[in-house]
Amino acid sequence: MLKSAQSDLGLDVTPITALKGVGPRNAERLARIGVSTVQDLLFHLPFRYQDRTRIVPVRSLCLGDQAVVEVVVESTDIHLGRRRSLLVRVSDGSGLLVLRFFHFSAAQKAALTVGVRLRCFGEVRNGPTGFEMIHPEYSRIDGHELPATEESLTPIYPTTEGMHQLTWRAMTDKALALLEERPQSLPEWLPEHLRRVYRLPDLSAAVRYLHRPPAGALQAKLLEGVHPAQRRLVFEELVAHQLSLSQLRQRRRLVAAPALNGKKPLRQRFLKSLPFSLTGSQQFAIEEIAGDLKQNRPMMRLLQGDVGSGKTVVAALAALQAVEAGYQVALMAPTELLSEQHLRSFRTWLLPLGVDILWLTSRQKGKARELLLARLESGEAGLVVGTQALFQDDVVFRKLGLVIIDEQHRFGVHQRMALREKGSDGGKVPHQLIMTATPIPRTLAMTAYADLDLSVIDELPPGRTPVTTVVLPASRRMDVIERVRAACALQRQAYWVCTLIEESEALECEAAEATAVQLGEMLPELRIGLVHGRLKASEKESVMLAFQQRELDLLVATTVIEVGVDVPNASLMIIENPERLGLAQLHQLRGRVGRGAVESHCVLMYQTPLSANARQRLAVMRESNDGFFIARKDLELRGAGEVLGTRQTGEMQFRIADLVRDQALLDEVRQAAAVILERYPDRVAPLVQRWIGIREQYIDA
Ligand code: ADP
Ligand code: MG
Repeated sequence: MLKSAQSDLGLDVTPITALKGVGPRNAERLARIGVSTVQDLLFHLPFRYQDRTRIVPVRSLCLGDQAVVEVVVESTDIHLGRRRSLLVRVSDGSGLLVLRFFHFSAAQKAALTVGVRLRCFGEVRNGPTGFEMIHPEYSRIDGHELPATEESLTPIYPTTEGMHQLTWRAMTDKALALLEERPQSLPEWLPEHLRRVYRLPDLSAAVRYLHRPPAGALQAKLLEGVHPAQRRLVFEELVAHQLSLSQLRQRRRLVAAPALNGKKPLRQRFLKSLPFSLTGSQQFAIEEIAGDLKQNRPMMRLLQGDVGSGKTVVAALAALQAVEAGYQVALMAPTELLSEQHLRSFRTWLLPLGVDILWLTSRQKGKARELLLARLESGEAGLVVGTQALFQDDVVFRKLGLVIIDEQHRFGVHQRMALREKGSDGGKVPHQLIMTATPIPRTLAMTAYADLDLSVIDELPPGRTPVTTVVLPASRRMDVIERVRAACALQRQAYWVCTLIEESEALECEAAEATAVQLGEMLPELRIGLVHGRLKASEKESVMLAFQQRELDLLVATTVIEVGVDVPNASLMIIENPERLGLAQLHQLRGRVGRGAVESHCVLMYQTPLSANARQRLAVMRESNDGFFIARKDLELRGAGEVLGTRQTGEMQFRIADLVRDQALLDEVRQAAAVILERYPDRVAPLVQRWIGIREQYIDA
């Protein structure tokens, strides 16, 4: 099977070109979809199968089936309709079927005479007179010698331009033959007793099965991705992922961090000054964090809590603990607007305690920026709030003890690691607290963020009334405008959120401007403000402030107000084109209302026609205010990559596993990974290498 003697090599280092018939052209095409070794090829699984293993009686065909039939031609006509076609009526005694050809030659027609026996393979469709196959593959059966049917299901591979299914089959035939010849070239790393406990077939058998399932294999299970053979590969991939993150976590324990172990005067004064008392789960999270920060190992903790659950106070307490111990704190928000909001909250809370707060964004330039940077470098400034600009190269901290990242799902493992480099106190790295309002289910969080510890705020502060949501077509715009008028007449405030079809900030801002003008004409009695991403920071700030202080009735905005904005008197939100947004984002936006005691409403005003998926998503919003429930639905409807924000960062791109589909495996995967770490430490590296590759290896935690 091999062109040259490479018999001692594993398939993970055997290049695809070692297979006979795979030349540089195909290798290049395969490289585009990440297939460069024979092992890659074996892990490139079919996404569906055709059953050519048995001949199906015509009578038992169902619409949509792809099947082999054996039939006799009863008549052959050229049909002159809208499209000229060749119609061949065939039968097998059990039923009638039409074969339809739009492209055909005279010779072809001549060969399909009455009485000719054919074996056909095609998809069953509805035609004017009953079931049809359009352009089936067929061959004549002459004499008594019956051609054999296929022995296994025919695999259909996800492919790339220029690669035909026949090529895939030929290549995988060779790869499977090679595997047969040298079983050790794809070593089994899952210990046998674990395979028994979790009922997992061995790796080579699973791979062989998935490329060439035997006749009678359960296609439905294969299509769903839950067949034991698939489960075997998924399990191993998830174990490898878990091991890789566990390694990160272990290596982190070897790094030093400052023990933030000061006295508590600031924290005590801060708690006394708050106009409310903390909820039980806020208190619990605060204790977990405080405990971590006292250690001389870096904390890496994810704080999950629904919109409005009060994560900011928790962050403030963590920050004070660092300040009390004489360390600096950096709080990073995903948008400038949100960083301003944090700045404002922190200033309100902490200035009275004598703690000053700096604000650093990419807009500050020249002298002003230099001055800020100097204050950070000298250590004079203790607390700085900002955007990603905080972590540009020229920003140097003297004694950074804690990094707080708000709305984590936009930052990936690699970025989390990069932030750590900012630690500068004699080889010590800062602690990290990551906050997110995407409350994904616990098991999933423990897998996706296995390198992090997890705290959850699972209750809202008392006195909140749930938001009532209605879903309306854009044709009801006039009614919606009347609703805004009525709400504002009752001294309530409202948001009008413009989102756009095009993913362009500029266009979105223009739409918001136009909407503000239009609403101004329709609602002359209202004081209307406008915020969008293109305004200067100071302009945004002053509009937000005016809205907060009830100098504005209606705020027209883009999705820049998605996170964090906090105006309890606002009780109505209109969202245009909600069908464009993910559920998590809608839930975030809607979280801007329902923050006070008055009953709040949210109007989702969609454009018709609505896709089935969009209709379902909007229905979820109408029916629930529960962030966990919404996140679970979002996962089902959009997949884990979108919801965790890993699609953009390119992380956690599984080859075979799917965190949503395979959720039920996650507990067992974690158990198995723990056993391997403990009892088979020498298998960790090869498993991680096989599934995650060197990509993750050079992250030094
Ligand atoms: P999020 O978790 O979405 O970031 P915030 O921290 O912005 O939520 O808190 C939302 C609002 O609830 C803020 O106005 C905050 O001051 C207030 N808040 C926080 N904790 C409590 C509490 N225990 N009781 C009452 N209000 C609270
Ligand atoms: Mg927040």
